[in-house]
Amino acid sequence: MSKVARMDAMDSIVDQIADCPIGGGGEAPEIVRCEGLSKSFGALKAVDNVDLSLRAGEIAALLGPSGCGKTTLLRLIAGFERPDVGSVEVAGSTVACETNFTSPEKRGVAMVFQDYALFPHMTVEQNVGYALGRRPDRDRVAKVLKMVGLQGLEARRPEELSGGQQQRVALARALAPTPSVVLLDEPFSNLDASMREHVRGEVRQILRAAGVSALLVTHDQEEALSLADTVAVMNNGRIEQVGSPEEVYGQPANHWVASFLGEIDTLPGQASGGVAECSLGTVRVSPELSGDVDILIRPESISVGTGHDGGSDAVVVERVYYGHDQLVTLELKDGIRVRSRSLGFPAWHPGDRLQVRLTGPVTALPRS
Ligand code: ATP
Repeated sequence: MSKVARMDAMDSIVDQIADCPIGGGGEAPEIVRCEGLSKSFGALKAVDNVDLSLRAGEIAALLGPSGCGKTTLLRLIAGFERPDVGSVEVAGSTVACETNFTSPEKRGVAMVFQDYALFPHMTVEQNVGYALGRRPDRDRVAKVLKMVGLQGLEARRPEELSGGQQQRVALARALAPTPSVVLLDEPFSNLDASMREHVRGEVRQILRAAGVSALLVTHDQEEALSLADTVAVMNNGRIEQVGSPEEVYGQPANHWVASFLGEIDTLPGQASGGVAECSLGTVRVSPELSGDVDILIRPESISVGTGHDGGSDAVVVERVYYGHDQLVTLELKDGIRVRSRSLGFPAWHPGDRLQVRLTGPVTALPRS
């Protein structure tokens, strides 16, 4: 597709986004579609039969542990790697399949690299203009620099900018040619923990304002859950689950996803007729489950107190204080341990006898 045709296509997609709620029932058009995508390096299957789609205006996170294949999947979409099997479509065009391979610069895909990859000898304006060819449209450069809040810094070189500002230059450079999708590889890993949350919020706002689709790679659960509309959880080259942050955290598809996304305790249970019995009482489960199940419980779903009528008796084994909250490990009468996360007060201590109640959602899975 020519650049002009792509910009026209993007304008029409942006018009469609205006009528489509983000993450609202899948009505927005698909911008990226990967089908049966695989890539091996020697004997190692880095990406293994992945299906993934990204809709117009959607911000998605590819979340998984180090080495699970996130960057390889991003590079397959960008065109820096060729798939062994499978296909990639961008804005309705097949850019990689058995018979076709479109080079990265012709895909309408922009990539923001982990180290930003800015040219050190160029100014901010030149770095952004570089993405628009030899005679960049200065109005467009000014427009994207305004969008990312860098007006006034056009003449500075990267070394004269903070980490957060450098990242905004990288983002402006990615957005300048009006890409169909922006791919971001661990975009916050070079920033101090104190800056990360602030910059994350800024990047989200910029992407939203640009109306562009984005796929971001991260191994940080909090980053994925707080930033993305959709989270794809990846392990060993495969996508384990795709869903909203609430779905992947609150209704994990399997034990691995549950434990990768945060603290989880497991109680054995017996399911039948849409309920299951476990040490903490009766919980509602899918009617399809029967027999031995695992009840997966996040610590914030358990509340503790001294006067919890109907609660189960437990003894405090350990307490870790975090300021805003505390994580209390409790031993139930049957010897099983569970954790409760609650406000940092009152302070519980090892040996305290409490009652424990389930007050939040749980997930039931067939016994592993
Ligand atoms: P991280 O979060 O640490 O960056 P990742 O999830 O992005 O990891 P990838 O970089 O995609 O993982 O790598 C997946 C696997 O493929 C790893 O085992 C890695 O060593 C291997 N790998 C990646 N690129 C190559 C390559 N060019 N040649 C050989 N092996 C590779």
